[in-house]
Amino acid sequence: MSWTRTAWIAMTLVWAGLAQAAEPATSATSQAQAALKAKLPFEDRQDYDFADHGYLGTLSDPLIRRADGAIAWDLKAYDFLQGPAPDTVNPSLWHHAGLLAKNGLFQVSDHIWQVRGFDVSNVTFIRGKTGWIVIDPLTTAETAKAAFALVTDKLGARPIVAVIYTHSHSDHFGGVRGIVSQADVDAGKIKIIAPEGFLKEAVSENVIAGPAMNRRAQFQFGYKLTPGPTGQVSSGIGQGIAKGTITLIAPTLSIDHTGQALHIDGVNMLFQMTPGTEAPAEMNLYFPDWRVLCMAENANVSMHNVLTPRGALVRDAKAWADDLTRSIDLFASRTDIMFTSHGWPRFGQGAIKAFLTDHRDAYKYLHDQSVRMMNSGMVGSEIADQIALPEVLAKDWFNRGYYGTMSFNSRAVYQRYMAGTTPIRSIWRCSPRQKKAAAMLKRWAGPIRFWVWRNQPSIRETMPGPRPC
Ligand SMILES: [Zn+2]
Repeated sequence: MSWTRTAWIAMTLVWAGLAQAAEPATSATSQAQAALKAKLPFEDRQDYDFADHGYLGTLSDPLIRRADGAIAWDLKAYDFLQGPAPDTVNPSLWHHAGLLAKNGLFQVSDHIWQVRGFDVSNVTFIRGKTGWIVIDPLTTAETAKAAFALVTDKLGARPIVAVIYTHSHSDHFGGVRGIVSQADVDAGKIKIIAPEGFLKEAVSENVIAGPAMNRRAQFQFGYKLTPGPTGQVSSGIGQGIAKGTITLIAPTLSIDHTGQALHIDGVNMLFQMTPGTEAPAEMNLYFPDWRVLCMAENANVSMHNVLTPRGALVRDAKAWADDLTRSIDLFASRTDIMFTSHGWPRFGQGAIKAFLTDHRDAYKYLHDQSVRMMNSGMVGSEIADQIALPEVLAKDWFNRGYYGTMSFNSRAVYQRYMAGTTPIRSIWRCSPRQKKAAAMLKRWAGPIRFWVWRNQPSIRETMPGPRPC
């Protein structure tokens, strides 16, 4: 082994140890947490009612294992989320994570059940005349299989007659082979339904850009951190991603226009296409006979990512807001129950309309104010430093930044319109500002860290700071 390689491994180990060392909160952190806690609207308890609604129990064995015996998911991993927030955790995130960590089977309506807290996403079971229509079978085969076992245990054995993927992200299709076989799909026993363009977009994200995106996702989701008050607390839209087997079965039926209707196993469904929002191929669906709306991942319990730390095409905050407006126009006045593929459902027409409206307004405000500042001459970093939701929108728990943030998302708006660059050509190469930043980094972080940053592209892209000149 060369000296260079030996040194690199040693540095990586030291670095990993430093990165994962658990330390108590500093006094500055404790003061900041206390100041935030004093401002949070804890008197608003509506989410607790929604998150507990219809709970029917969970698995007796908390460990969901892979075929090799390794643990894919531990249902008790987040049991530490009890009582007041410790100083090491943002009190708003602690509140949010406690709600997301509830796991088990929940009855959403007379015909609809969800298994939540078994993965980063939810799986939904619609009871048809003869079997189940499944929406979004989680990220991994192991967690999907465990969720289906819980449904069968609590509600009785029924076959799966159809699977609907609401969009092209792997946490909404990756578990499909845990509950459905390719042979049954090929035999026509089970329909696989997805929005038009699903397969192309799923391949684009998970195969073409897969290695880079997976590497970055490990940082975004804290994949290798141990859950705990000084470790991983929550991803913001679910507790974390299961460590199981990601699978796929190609769709057999595509939805290609808003207003398209399907009748499957006695269940009527109406679709709204939402391409270019949270995913390039995504759709909402509505159950007109039951006044129930599924908002896929287009409306969430957190501000979502318009720019994603893991990568993915930059999203369009304006299109997102416009499609939420369309959802409100199409469905809000005839919906009594709304569920999504992350987080908990909402009940009551007033609560649902207020949620959709305020959530839409947050994305529209993000877009419009970023554009206003951009046109006034500010660059992306300046906008990101200043933009914030007004209190009338920021007061809503679901508009807070547990997953995406206003600051980071404003960069998506800037990047979408301005390509994220400065118009001054000399700065594209090696500007004095970059040289100065590189020199400062070298002085502060030491020659070893600088060497890693300069010579290890896979690590460098996860580190803050300018490119070396
Ligand atoms: Zn998702």
